[in-house]
Amino acid sequence: MNLKSLHKISYGLYIICSKENEKINGQIANAIFQVTSQPPTIAISINKNNLTHKYISKSKFFTISVLSEETPMSFIGNFGFKSGKDINKFNEVDYKLSKNKIPIILDNSTAFIEVKVLNSIDMSTHTIFIGEVKDADILSDKPVMTYEYYHECKGGKSPKNAPTYNKILDKKINNMEEKKMEKYVCNVCGYVYDPAKGDPESGIKPETKFEDLPKDWVCPICGASKDQFEKE
Ligand code: FE
Repeated sequence: MNLKSLHKISYGLYIICSKENEKINGQIANAIFQVTSQPPTIAISINKNNLTHKYISKSKFFTISVLSEETPMSFIGNFGFKSGKDINKFNEVDYKLSKNKIPIILDNSTAFIEVKVLNSIDMSTHTIFIGEVKDADILSDKPVMTYEYYHECKGGKSPKNAPTYNKILDKKINNMEEKKMEKYVCNVCGYVYDPAKGDPESGIKPETKFEDLPKDWVCPICGASKDQFEKE
């Protein structure tokens, strides 16, 4: 069996938001698809350990904000590699509330969809929530971020709670990559600093060795400092 076949499935990159009473939370997700068109229904897969899972189970509502290709890695990191149990993810994020008072992310979003949960399926580590679209609109006409683009062009990794996370596979792929200039891995989020690519969002040009990065350089996804990186 070659599990790499699963990497041939296309996904987008989204922020799923929900609430419990007055508390709100959001998280990154890629496993989303439309189920039917009449009525329009949507399915998403969410890890049971995530705070958003609890909120969706309680409120029966969630929103999907569709991210654009130019979304900065730090923005994805805020929603993908940090827990709403520890920080308020909405501190520096522009958002509005849907008809049912669920956050809709305005920064970097190309569209939003609000869904009312009708059904759910227990899949051991994850729950598949299926619901009907109650509201939706286009927010910008920028190209959308695909999961492939996030992986290939931005060096992004799957958060450990993503349905598509595969530790063994990630390791195998990394081992196959060339090692001319050494790559360094963030111990917190798994981001790989690739000297060939540099870190353009932080002004680091391609062909910059890890050793030559400024002391105050931090992981573009989760904000971890240089000393939290290890040679791959
Ligand atoms: Fe990191």
